[in-house]
Amino acid sequence: MKTEALFDRDAYAKEFVGRVISCDEITKDEKTAYKVVLDKTLFFPEQGGQSSDIGTLDNAKVIDVQIADGVIYHYVTSGFLIGEEVKGVIDWQHRFNNMQQHTGEHIFTGIAHNTYGAENVGFHLSDNTVTLDLNIELTDEQVDYIETTANEIIAKDVAVKAYYPNQDLLGAINYRSKKEIEGAVRLVEIEGVDLCACCAPHVKSTGQVGLLKVVSYGKYKGGTRVYILCGMRALADYNRRMKILASAYQKLNCKEEELPEKVEGLIEDNKQLKYRISDIKAGLLNDRIESVVPELTDVIIFMEDLDTKTMRDGVNKLVERHDGLCAIFSGDDEEGYNFVIGSKTRDCAAIATGLRELLGAKGGGSKQMAQGSINATRTQIEGTL
Ligand SMILES: [Zn+2]
Repeated sequence: MKTEALFDRDAYAKEFVGRVISCDEITKDEKTAYKVVLDKTLFFPEQGGQSSDIGTLDNAKVIDVQIADGVIYHYVTSGFLIGEEVKGVIDWQHRFNNMQQHTGEHIFTGIAHNTYGAENVGFHLSDNTVTLDLNIELTDEQVDYIETTANEIIAKDVAVKAYYPNQDLLGAINYRSKKEIEGAVRLVEIEGVDLCACCAPHVKSTGQVGLLKVVSYGKYKGGTRVYILCGMRALADYNRRMKILASAYQKLNCKEEELPEKVEGLIEDNKQLKYRISDIKAGLLNDRIESVVPELTDVIIFMEDLDTKTMRDGVNKLVERHDGLCAIFSGDDEEGYNFVIGSKTRDCAAIATGLRELLGAKGGGSKQMAQGSINATRTQIEGTL
């Protein structure tokens, strides 16, 4: 027997009394739970991309609600006797929040449909995220237009109605629908904006959505995936972003609007400092190279923070002065080393292969010069060369 869906008729009812039809002990998420069927319920089950209501049945917590063949299953933390009457209370804050998001989605998609011919091909409403997938690629301007128009419709406080039209009416009207629906079709109408087959609870007028904000969007499966936030969620997100901004401009000791310029300045300063460090390091390396006695055949230098170009220049200079293996390693024992090796007489590609086989080095090169990286200690490297 199908469960009577009380949320269908009144999206604003918060409490009800139902009779227990069945109650089975099960294991859910590795914990004991009870799967309870009532004759009627206000709990909206997970369906159509929307997560379920939560709340309580008597003193037990309702942690999940599912539907199969019209029967609604409540997953509850304690069990009941069959035939017992239980009082159900839905978590209203959670529900109303979902209603704001869902009606917001209809407004957004309705405008996208009417203005650009977009069809909604996917919808997901969880406790953290609201996404809607449209089958066409929207431009930045189009997304802006839809968002602005949606908020104008919210401000106009247009009525939102849900009803089951009779078959004659249903055949005569045009409505949005994701799939062929079996059984009675429930329509949700936002006058002049949208008419869509939908089973979820909605706010009674668009004003209650409060605010609709697109937080991001991008290409998705040949169309567009749009992330929106409505009502209290949009406010919470606004506050979260303000905090991030404030911490950034307070740390940088500037005004909010000066942030981009300030950050660009820092990036540029950082680049200049890196160049300067690189110059200083190149100078130090040069001093090291010139201090090596000319009689030495093999020269292996270890030094921190050298970039690849400086290392290559250094090795070239060493090769001019020494006949054996010339190598520069930059790094430390913990993080590993980058290396450049060169030689007039030895086969550098073969040496690199040796380092790869014995110490797992990466990289390679020619007979004259090779480079790569290695995760080994200085002692291990010196023992291998
Ligand atoms: Zn819907």
